[in-house]
Amino acid sequence: MGTVITTVDFGNHVACDFCSEEHSADKTALGGLLLDTYALCPKCVAGAGNELKPSQIKARAADMETFHAFVIRIRAGNNTMTITSK
Ligand SMILES: [Zn+2]
Repeated sequence: MGTVITTVDFGNHVACDFCSEEHSADKTALGGLLLDTYALCPKCVAGAGNELKPSQIKARAADMETFHAFVIRIRAGNNTMTITSK
């Protein structure tokens, strides 16, 4: 890994890695999953249907867990993105 240029802290902000829809803490959309390193919102999961390979699914939202709560949980307090040089 290269030199760290900057780290962006998203705080409590969550967005789907596929459609970029924002999910604030008060949004009630339930579900979602982690596909490799990408967080998919419930809408994208429904739209993907059978195209999702079980081997790529690394985590799923619990029953009655919102997409926002799920993403914050799996990031375990590290809701950041680090940009590095080559
Ligand atoms: Zn989405």
